[in-house]
Amino acid sequence: MKKHNFYAGPSILPDVTLKNTADAIFDFAGTGVSLLSISHRSKEFVAVMEEAQQLMKDLLNVPEGYSVLFLGGGASTQFAMIPYNLMGKKSAYLNTGAWSTKAIKEAKLFGEVEVVASSEDKNFTYIPKDFTIPEDADYFHITTNNTIYGTEIKTDLDSPVPLVADMSSDILSRPVDVSKYVLIYGGAQKNLAPAGVTFVIIRDDIVGKVDRPIPTMLNYKTHIDKGSMFNTPPVFAIYALLQTLRWVKELGGVEIMQQINQKKAAMLYDEIDRNSMFKGTVTNKEDRSLMNVCFVMNDGHEDKEKAFLEFATQKGMVGVKGHRSVGGFRASLYNALPIESVEALVTCMQEFEKNNR
Ligand SMILES: *Cc1c(COP(=O)(O)O)cnc(C)c1O
Repeated sequence: MKKHNFYAGPSILPDVTLKNTADAIFDFAGTGVSLLSISHRSKEFVAVMEEAQQLMKDLLNVPEGYSVLFLGGGASTQFAMIPYNLMGKKSAYLNTGAWSTKAIKEAKLFGEVEVVASSEDKNFTYIPKDFTIPEDADYFHITTNNTIYGTEIKTDLDSPVPLVADMSSDILSRPVDVSKYVLIYGGAQKNLAPAGVTFVIIRDDIVGKVDRPIPTMLNYKTHIDKGSMFNTPPVFAIYALLQTLRWVKELGGVEIMQQINQKKAAMLYDEIDRNSMFKGTVTNKEDRSLMNVCFVMNDGHEDKEKAFLEFATQKGMVGVKGHRSVGGFRASLYNALPIESVEALVTCMQEFEKNNR
Protein backbone atom coordinates (compact mmCIF):
# COMPACT_ATOMS: atom_id res chain seq x y z
CA MET A 1 0.00 0.00 0.00
CA LYS A 2 1.17 3.53 -0.72
CA LYS A 3 2.36 5.24 2.45
CA HIS A 4 1.70 8.87 3.23
CA ASN A 5 4.67 10.17 5.23
CA PHE A 6 3.78 12.88 7.77
CA TYR A 7 6.83 12.51 10.00
CA ALA A 8 8.10 15.75 11.57
CA GLY A 9 11.79 15.02 11.10
CA PRO A 10 13.68 13.35 9.70
CA SER A 11 10.93 13.52 7.16
CA ILE A 12 9.82 13.06 3.60
CA LEU A 13 12.23 14.03 0.82
CA PRO A 14 11.58 14.28 -2.91
CA ASP A 15 11.85 10.94 -4.72
CA VAL A 16 14.48 12.43 -7.00
CA THR A 17 16.63 13.28 -3.96
CA LEU A 18 16.50 9.68 -2.77
CA LYS A 19 17.07 8.23 -6.22
CA ASN A 20 20.03 10.42 -7.19
CA THR A 21 21.66 10.05 -3.78
CA ALA A 22 21.28 6.27 -3.87
CA ASP A 23 22.84 6.19 -7.35
CA ALA A 24 25.76 8.40 -6.24
CA ILE A 25 26.56 5.97 -3.45
CA PHE A 26 27.60 3.51 -6.15
CA ASP A 27 28.90 5.85 -8.83
CA PHE A 28 29.39 9.49 -7.99
CA ALA A 29 29.39 11.93 -10.93
CA GLY A 30 30.76 9.33 -13.34
CA THR A 31 33.92 8.84 -11.27
CA GLY A 32 33.30 5.13 -10.86
CA VAL A 33 33.66 5.45 -7.09
CA SER A 34 31.16 6.04 -4.32
CA LEU A 35 30.15 9.47 -3.06
CA LEU A 36 31.03 8.02 0.35
CA SER A 37 34.56 7.11 -0.68
CA ILE A 38 35.89 10.14 -2.52
CA SER A 39 37.87 13.06 -1.16
CA HIS A 40 35.82 16.06 -0.20
CA ARG A 41 38.56 18.04 -1.96
CA SER A 42 38.09 16.20 -5.25
CA LYS A 43 36.94 18.52 -8.02
CA GLU A 44 33.69 16.55 -8.25
CA PHE A 45 32.75 17.14 -4.63
CA VAL A 46 33.96 20.74 -4.59
CA ALA A 47 31.52 21.30 -7.47
CA VAL A 48 28.69 19.85 -5.35
CA MET A 49 29.53 22.13 -2.42
CA GLU A 50 29.75 25.22 -4.60
CA GLU A 51 26.52 24.52 -6.48
CA ALA A 52 24.65 23.83 -3.22
CA GLN A 53 25.87 27.10 -1.69
CA GLN A 54 25.02 29.04 -4.85
CA LEU A 55 21.55 27.48 -5.21
CA MET A 56 20.76 28.24 -1.58
CA LYS A 57 21.71 31.87 -2.31
CA ASP A 58 19.73 31.98 -5.55
CA LEU A 59 16.58 30.38 -4.14
CA LEU A 60 16.50 32.68 -1.12
CA ASN A 61 17.78 35.78 -2.89
CA VAL A 62 20.64 36.08 -0.40
CA PRO A 63 22.25 39.53 -0.71
CA GLU A 64 25.98 40.18 -1.19
CA GLY A 65 28.08 39.91 1.95
CA TYR A 66 26.53 36.69 3.27
CA SER A 67 28.01 33.18 3.38
CA VAL A 68 26.20 29.86 3.23
CA LEU A 69 27.77 27.21 5.48
CA PHE A 70 27.02 23.51 5.70
CA LEU A 71 28.19 22.32 9.11
CA GLY A 72 27.78 19.34 11.42
CA GLY A 73 26.27 19.29 14.88
CA GLY A 74 22.64 20.00 14.11
CA ALA A 75 20.62 23.08 14.95
CA SER A 76 21.28 22.23 18.60
CA THR A 77 24.99 23.10 18.24
CA GLN A 78 23.95 26.45 16.75
CA PHE A 79 22.07 27.17 20.00
CA ALA A 80 25.52 27.52 21.60
CA MET A 81 27.54 28.76 18.62
CA ILE A 82 25.30 31.80 18.17
CA PRO A 83 25.84 33.31 21.64
CA TYR A 84 29.47 32.13 21.64
CA ASN A 85 30.16 34.20 18.50
CA LEU A 86 27.64 37.04 18.67
CA MET A 87 26.85 37.85 22.27
CA GLY A 88 28.93 40.34 24.21
CA LYS A 89 26.93 41.02 27.37
CA LYS A 90 23.30 40.59 26.44
CA SER A 91 20.94 38.96 23.95
CA ALA A 92 17.17 38.80 23.54
CA TYR A 93 14.98 35.77 22.75
CA LEU A 94 11.34 35.15 21.93
CA ASN A 95 10.21 31.93 23.60
CA THR A 96 7.76 30.12 21.33
CA GLY A 97 8.42 26.51 22.20
CA ALA A 98 10.72 23.68 23.18
CA TRP A 99 13.41 24.59 20.66
CA SER A 100 13.43 28.25 21.69
CA THR A 101 13.67 27.14 25.31
CA LYS A 102 16.71 25.05 24.50
CA ALA A 103 18.32 27.94 22.61
CA ILE A 104 17.72 30.23 25.61
CA LYS A 105 19.31 27.72 27.99
CA GLU A 106 22.51 27.69 25.94
CA ALA A 107 22.63 31.48 25.57
CA LYS A 108 22.48 31.87 29.35
CA LEU A 109 25.92 30.24 29.53
CA PHE A 110 27.38 33.34 27.87
CA GLY A 111 25.67 36.31 29.50
CA GLU A 112 22.39 38.03 30.21
CA VAL A 113 19.40 36.78 28.26
CA GLU A 114 16.21 38.81 28.12
CA VAL A 115 13.19 36.72 27.14
CA VAL A 116 11.01 39.43 25.59
CA ALA A 117 7.85 37.31 25.60
CA SER A 118 6.79 33.68 25.97
CA SER A 119 3.72 31.65 25.05
CA GLU A 120 4.49 28.98 27.60
CA ASP A 121 1.42 30.03 29.64
CA LYS A 122 -0.79 28.36 27.01
CA ASN A 123 1.49 25.46 26.11
CA PHE A 124 2.97 27.46 23.21
CA THR A 125 -0.24 27.43 21.18
CA TYR A 126 0.19 31.00 19.96
CA ILE A 127 2.89 33.47 18.90
CA PRO A 128 3.28 36.43 21.31
CA LYS A 129 2.76 39.73 19.48
CA ASP A 130 3.29 42.47 22.04
CA PHE A 131 6.90 42.73 23.02
CA THR A 132 9.74 45.21 22.98
CA ILE A 133 13.14 44.21 21.71
CA PRO A 134 15.80 45.80 23.95
CA GLU A 135 18.10 48.11 21.98
CA ASP A 136 21.13 47.08 24.04
CA ALA A 137 20.91 43.41 23.03
CA ASP A 138 23.58 42.16 20.63
CA TYR A 139 20.94 40.19 18.74
CA PHE A 140 17.32 39.03 18.89
CA HIS A 141 16.61 35.33 18.36
CA ILE A 142 13.38 33.82 17.05
CA THR A 143 12.22 30.35 16.02
CA THR A 144 10.14 30.97 12.90
CA ASN A 145 8.41 27.59 12.86
CA ASN A 146 7.66 25.69 16.03
CA THR A 147 7.80 22.12 14.82
CA ILE A 148 6.36 20.61 17.99
CA TYR A 149 3.47 23.02 18.66
CA GLY A 150 2.49 23.90 15.08
CA THR A 151 2.84 27.69 15.24
CA GLU A 152 4.73 29.81 12.75
CA ILE A 153 5.96 33.38 12.31
CA LYS A 154 5.22 33.74 8.61
CA THR A 155 6.52 37.25 8.06
CA ASP A 156 9.97 38.72 8.49
CA LEU A 157 9.98 40.84 11.66
CA ASP A 158 11.51 44.27 11.98
CA SER A 159 14.13 44.31 14.68
CA PRO A 160 16.19 47.25 15.97
CA VAL A 161 19.04 44.83 16.73
CA PRO A 162 20.51 42.06 14.53
CA LEU A 163 17.93 39.35 13.94
CA VAL A 164 18.78 35.63 14.20
CA ALA A 165 16.33 32.89 13.22
CA ASP A 166 16.05 29.14 13.66
CA MET A 167 14.35 28.10 10.40
CA SER A 168 14.95 24.36 10.78
CA SER A 169 11.43 23.40 9.80
CA ASP A 170 10.31 26.13 7.40
CA ILE A 171 13.40 26.94 5.37
CA LEU A 172 12.55 27.10 1.64
CA SER A 173 8.84 26.80 2.37
CA ARG A 174 8.34 30.49 1.57
CA PRO A 175 10.29 33.53 0.39
CA VAL A 176 12.36 35.20 3.11
CA ASP A 177 13.83 38.69 3.14
CA VAL A 178 17.30 37.54 4.15
CA SER A 179 18.52 41.13 4.43
CA LYS A 180 16.46 41.46 7.62
CA TYR A 181 18.53 38.74 9.34
CA VAL A 182 22.19 38.47 10.24
CA LEU A 183 21.96 34.72 10.70
CA ILE A 184 19.49 32.03 9.63
CA TYR A 185 20.17 28.42 10.57
CA GLY A 186 18.65 25.01 10.93
CA GLY A 187 19.03 21.27 10.82
CA ALA A 188 18.43 20.20 7.22
CA GLN A 189 16.53 17.03 8.14
CA LYS A 190 13.08 18.64 8.12
CA ASN A 191 12.68 20.16 4.67
CA LEU A 192 15.92 19.64 2.76
CA ALA A 193 18.08 16.62 3.35
CA PRO A 194 18.90 13.62 5.53
CA ALA A 195 20.16 14.32 9.05
CA GLY A 196 23.81 15.28 9.36
CA VAL A 197 24.04 18.73 7.81
CA THR A 198 23.17 22.09 9.36
CA PHE A 199 22.73 25.13 7.14
CA VAL A 200 23.88 28.56 8.31
CA ILE A 201 23.29 31.71 6.28
CA ILE A 202 25.41 34.37 7.93
CA ARG A 203 26.25 38.00 7.25
CA ASP A 204 30.02 37.97 7.16
CA ASP A 205 30.54 41.24 9.06
CA ILE A 206 28.67 40.05 12.15
CA VAL A 207 31.56 37.90 13.38
CA GLY A 208 34.69 38.97 15.23
CA LYS A 209 32.99 41.40 17.60
CA VAL A 210 33.29 39.51 20.88
CA ASP A 211 36.38 39.33 23.06
CA ARG A 212 36.23 35.76 24.27
CA PRO A 213 38.43 33.11 22.67
CA ILE A 214 36.36 30.76 20.50
CA PRO A 215 37.46 27.20 19.69
CA THR A 216 38.34 26.89 16.00
CA MET A 217 35.49 24.58 15.00
CA LEU A 218 32.90 26.67 16.85
CA ASN A 219 34.08 29.92 15.30
CA TYR A 220 31.96 31.02 12.32
CA LYS A 221 34.98 32.87 10.94
CA THR A 222 36.81 29.57 10.41
CA HIS A 223 34.04 28.29 8.19
CA ILE A 224 33.38 31.57 6.39
CA ASP A 225 37.08 31.89 5.53
CA LYS A 226 37.31 28.33 4.24
CA GLY A 227 34.05 28.25 2.28
CA SER A 228 32.64 25.64 4.66
CA MET A 229 35.56 23.31 3.82
CA PHE A 230 37.76 23.79 6.90
CA ASN A 231 37.34 20.14 7.81
CA THR A 232 35.48 17.26 6.20
CA PRO A 233 31.93 18.43 5.64
CA PRO A 234 29.01 15.96 5.79
CA VAL A 235 29.36 15.00 2.13
CA PHE A 236 26.48 12.52 1.92
CA ALA A 237 23.91 14.89 3.38
CA ILE A 238 25.20 17.82 1.31
CA TYR A 239 24.88 15.81 -1.89
CA ALA A 240 21.27 14.95 -1.02
CA LEU A 241 20.63 18.58 -0.07
CA LEU A 242 21.82 19.67 -3.51
CA GLN A 243 19.32 17.32 -5.16
CA THR A 244 16.49 18.88 -3.13
CA LEU A 245 17.64 22.41 -4.00
CA ARG A 246 17.63 21.52 -7.71
CA TRP A 247 14.15 20.07 -7.29
CA VAL A 248 12.83 23.27 -5.66
CA LYS A 249 14.40 25.34 -8.44
CA GLU A 250 12.85 23.14 -11.13
CA LEU A 251 9.41 23.50 -9.55
CA GLY A 252 9.76 27.27 -9.80
CA GLY A 253 11.34 28.31 -6.51
CA VAL A 254 10.12 29.32 -3.09
CA GLU A 255 7.19 31.46 -4.27
CA ILE A 256 5.66 28.39 -5.92
CA MET A 257 6.50 26.26 -2.88
CA GLN A 258 4.67 28.77 -0.70
CA GLN A 259 1.57 28.64 -2.89
CA ILE A 260 1.51 24.84 -2.80
CA ASN A 261 2.16 24.82 0.95
CA GLN A 262 -0.67 27.30 1.58
CA LYS A 263 -3.03 25.14 -0.44
CA LYS A 264 -2.03 21.93 1.35
CA ALA A 265 -2.31 23.50 4.81
CA ALA A 266 -5.66 25.16 4.05
CA MET A 267 -7.06 21.82 2.94
CA LEU A 268 -6.15 20.13 6.20
CA TYR A 269 -7.05 23.01 8.56
CA ASP A 270 -10.44 23.37 6.82
CA GLU A 271 -11.15 19.72 7.51
CA ILE A 272 -10.00 19.97 11.13
CA ASP A 273 -12.32 22.96 11.65
CA ARG A 274 -15.23 21.30 9.85
CA ASN A 275 -14.96 17.76 11.22
CA SER A 276 -16.91 17.26 14.46
CA MET A 277 -14.42 14.66 15.69
CA PHE A 278 -11.32 16.89 15.70
CA LYS A 279 -10.12 20.30 16.78
CA GLY A 280 -6.95 22.25 16.09
CA THR A 281 -4.65 23.04 19.00
CA VAL A 282 -3.58 26.42 17.56
CA THR A 283 -6.79 28.42 17.79
CA ASN A 284 -5.30 31.74 16.69
CA LYS A 285 -5.57 31.04 12.96
CA GLU A 286 -2.90 33.48 11.78
CA ASP A 287 -0.34 31.64 13.92
CA ARG A 288 -1.04 28.23 12.40
CA SER A 289 2.00 26.61 10.84
CA LEU A 290 1.92 25.65 7.18
CA MET A 291 4.47 22.95 7.92
CA ASN A 292 3.29 21.16 11.07
CA VAL A 293 -0.43 20.84 11.61
CA CYS A 294 -1.38 19.85 15.17
CA PHE A 295 -4.84 18.58 16.11
CA VAL A 296 -6.54 16.54 18.81
CA MET A 297 -9.84 14.71 19.27
CA ASN A 298 -12.68 17.15 19.82
CA ASP A 299 -14.37 17.53 23.23
CA GLY A 300 -16.41 14.43 23.96
CA HIS A 301 -14.38 12.26 21.60
CA GLU A 302 -11.13 12.10 23.57
CA ASP A 303 -11.52 8.35 24.03
CA LYS A 304 -11.22 7.76 20.27
CA GLU A 305 -7.61 8.93 19.89
CA LYS A 306 -6.16 5.45 19.74
CA ALA A 307 -8.89 4.28 17.38
CA PHE A 308 -8.21 7.10 14.92
CA LEU A 309 -4.47 6.46 15.01
CA GLU A 310 -5.10 2.79 14.20
CA PHE A 311 -7.58 3.68 11.45
CA ALA A 312 -5.17 6.18 9.89
CA THR A 313 -2.32 3.66 10.06
CA GLN A 314 -4.49 1.08 8.26
CA LYS A 315 -5.10 3.65 5.53
CA GLY A 316 -1.38 4.15 4.98
CA MET A 317 -0.74 7.26 7.11
CA VAL A 318 2.71 7.23 8.72
CA GLY A 319 4.07 9.55 11.42
CA VAL A 320 0.82 11.30 12.41
CA LYS A 321 1.12 10.73 16.15
CA GLY A 322 1.52 14.06 17.95
CA HIS A 323 4.60 14.99 19.94
CA ARG A 324 4.38 13.73 23.52
CA SER A 325 4.21 17.28 24.89
CA VAL A 326 1.07 18.12 22.85
CA GLY A 327 -0.59 14.72 22.34
CA GLY A 328 -3.13 14.00 19.63
CA PHE A 329 -1.87 14.24 16.10
CA ARG A 330 0.63 16.15 14.04
CA ALA A 331 0.75 16.05 10.26
CA SER A 332 3.89 17.59 8.82
CA LEU A 333 3.32 18.99 5.35
CA TYR A 334 6.87 19.69 4.22
CA ASN A 335 7.69 20.73 0.65
CA ALA A 336 8.16 17.15 -0.54
CA LEU A 337 4.79 15.92 0.75
CA PRO A 338 2.49 15.56 -2.27
CA ILE A 339 -0.97 17.11 -2.17
CA GLU A 340 -2.41 13.60 -2.69
CA SER A 341 -1.16 12.68 0.79
CA VAL A 342 -3.09 15.59 2.31
CA GLU A 343 -6.17 14.51 0.36
CA ALA A 344 -5.72 10.97 1.66
CA LEU A 345 -5.53 12.20 5.27
CA VAL A 346 -8.61 14.39 4.81
CA THR A 347 -10.55 11.45 3.34
CA CYS A 348 -9.41 9.31 6.23
CA MET A 349 -10.72 11.88 8.75
CA GLN A 350 -14.05 12.10 6.91
CA GLU A 351 -14.47 8.33 6.87
CA PHE A 352 -13.63 8.14 10.56
CA GLU A 353 -16.33 10.72 11.29
CA LYS A 354 -18.89 8.77 9.28
CA ASN A 355 -17.99 5.46 10.90
CA ASN A 356 -18.31 6.93 14.39
CA ARG A 357 -21.55 8.89 14.05
C1 LIG B 1 14.35 19.74 14.85
C2 LIG B 1 14.56 21.13 15.29
C3 LIG B 1 15.72 21.51 16.00
C4 LIG B 1 16.79 20.52 16.40
O1 LIG B 1 17.57 20.19 15.32
P1 LIG B 1 18.81 19.19 15.48
O2 LIG B 1 19.41 19.28 14.11
O3 LIG B 1 18.26 17.84 15.81
O4 LIG B 1 19.69 19.70 16.54
C5 LIG B 1 15.86 22.83 16.34
N1 LIG B 1 14.93 23.75 16.03
C6 LIG B 1 13.80 23.41 15.37
C7 LIG B 1 12.80 24.47 15.05
C8 LIG B 1 13.59 22.11 14.98
O5 LIG B 1 12.47 21.77 14.31
